[in-house]
Amino acid sequence: MPARPPRMCAFAGCRRLVQGRSYCAEHQALIDAKRAAREAETHKAYNQKRPVSDNFYSTRRWLETRRRHLALHPLCLDCTTAGRVTPGVVVDHIKPRKVFPELELEPSNLRTLCRACDNRRRRDMTGRT
Ligand SMILES: [Zn+2]
Ligand SMILES: [Zn+2]
Repeated sequence: MPARPPRMCAFAGCRRLVQGRSYCAEHQALIDAKRAAREAETHKAYNQKRPVSDNFYSTRRWLETRRRHLALHPLCLDCTTAGRVTPGVVVDHIKPRKVFPELELEPSNLRTLCRACDNRRRRDMTGRT
């Protein structure tokens, strides 16, 4: 099999001859570096776009606040108001975190709900807007 004829490096202005690839070693390294930089940039932009609040519910401070709240208020608030006794599983923010992020760990801004009541409140909330 005859070897493929050498070609000129595909980098503009470079006259080095290469065989079986597009760029000479120097320009291939340059292209690779540029691509890596671009990927790093994309990655960074993606991370910056993610809202900071994303991880809130898995932070230690939230889990600790939640645990303490459930220990003090183990029953669903709505069910209690309605005369039922239902253990709560959801710790809900009375004033939403999106609007009052400074109250996200404030004990008086939390209430215990059961799954059903939490779902109903969420439905009511989206229905209103
Ligand atoms: Zn080159
Ligand atoms: Zn309930």
